[in-house]
Amino acid sequence: TQEAFDRIRELDPEVAAFLQLNEEQATARAKELEQTPASERGPLFGMPIGVKDNIVTEGIETTASSRILEGFIPIYDATVVRKLKDAGMVITGKLNMDEFAMGSSNENSYYKKTKNPWNLQTVPGGSSGGSAAAVAAGEVPFALGSDTGGSIRQPAAFCGVVGMKPTYGRVSRFGLIAFASSLDQIGPVTRTVEDNAKLLQVISGHDDMDSTSADVPVPDFAAALTGDIKGLRIGVPKEYLGEGVSEGARQAVLDALRVLEEKGATWEEISMPHSKYALSTYYLLSSSEASSNLARFDGIRYGYRTNQAENLLDFYMNTRAEGFGDEVKRRIMLGTYALSSGYYDAYYKKAQKTRTLIKQDFDQAFEKFDVIIGPTTPTPSFNIGEKIDDPLTMYANDILTIPVNLAGIPAISVPCGFDNGLPLGLQIIGRPFDEETIYRTAHVFE
Ligand code: GLN
Repeated sequence: TQEAFDRIRELDPEVAAFLQLNEEQATARAKELEQTPASERGPLFGMPIGVKDNIVTEGIETTASSRILEGFIPIYDATVVRKLKDAGMVITGKLNMDEFAMGSSNENSYYKKTKNPWNLQTVPGGSSGGSAAAVAAGEVPFALGSDTGGSIRQPAAFCGVVGMKPTYGRVSRFGLIAFASSLDQIGPVTRTVEDNAKLLQVISGHDDMDSTSADVPVPDFAAALTGDIKGLRIGVPKEYLGEGVSEGARQAVLDALRVLEEKGATWEEISMPHSKYALSTYYLLSSSEASSNLARFDGIRYGYRTNQAENLLDFYMNTRAEGFGDEVKRRIMLGTYALSSGYYDAYYKKAQKTRTLIKQDFDQAFEKFDVIIGPTTPTPSFNIGEKIDDPLTMYANDILTIPVNLAGIPAISVPCGFDNGLPLGLQIIGRPFDEETIYRTAHVFE
């Protein structure tokens, strides 16, 4: 813990990954933990961890990087935070993100712009950019992120670290500030696959406080890291290596497949014909859910409130106008429109149908293959400011990560070479609740 805070003091003035530091409490907690007998210490006992700022932490300001939650101090812990504490982990602070997890570059934070530690002119990715940058810079060995359309995997790829989006339902969402509830999952960001497996172990499991959390056994994920992938069958969708994917990213995936082949795996090119609808389906559904989830921010219950109001309606409207950033407003407008009567059937309902088709592409592929592999992102990181004025180009970043959220299945990003001096990620996608096979495959690259 001491080392983590020393390193944060040294590097975070430049990297800007942390929004809040919890140094006093963390140091006291670490001292207290020293009294625990060795026999009662689990695998991650005493390890420092950073937590994305959309996960509520008792007594520590939690803003989801939005002005509208400025000054909000939760009175309870998210289930995952309680589990970290029960495992003897030490909460070092809260990590920057795109406002309400909407974004791919961390430039949508109201508070600060996190930098990519590999090149401070470039973005760390998003929305869990603070989580990936803090781990990449060696400020903390562990972080939690959340992934609705790629927000763990894309920043992990950009920052050269390991990020896992678990199966929908694997990890409780209780205490995660909701963006799109049918897509959101919390997951681990770490430097190694082994650490990642151990952290997922700690946060997984059924929770009565989240009705979508699944009542399925939690395997010993780290035990899956046997190094043996003989007979593993890999599907490689041609759509994931097509137009828009940089030559460097394509080559890195082909090199990785060669390594897997040498270890006894086989691969075949496949087709996922409905992937072309993923981006529009995702932005329709996620914005619809967001417009409903974000209705609760009215200035009455928590956080920021306007002081410009003559009456109650003004109060709501001005609080929201001043409290939300541009990207959040764009999504609320899009979502409200898609859900309005007269448009619902044409947009929302249609998107639900294409979501099913995208899920069926995966179901079919998994009849024959154990994992599906491709790049995590079409290109490596880009310069700060380069895409912020062009939302559609920004959205296109998520083209390879989004289908996984729509299908509710697990996927990891592991470091996989460089393009232009910047890290690339390899995405390994698995069957529902089969994170073990993903970890076993990913472990080959360590
Ligand atoms: N970049 C995507 C978006 O802006 C993904 C966000 C996420 O996974 N939270 O919606």
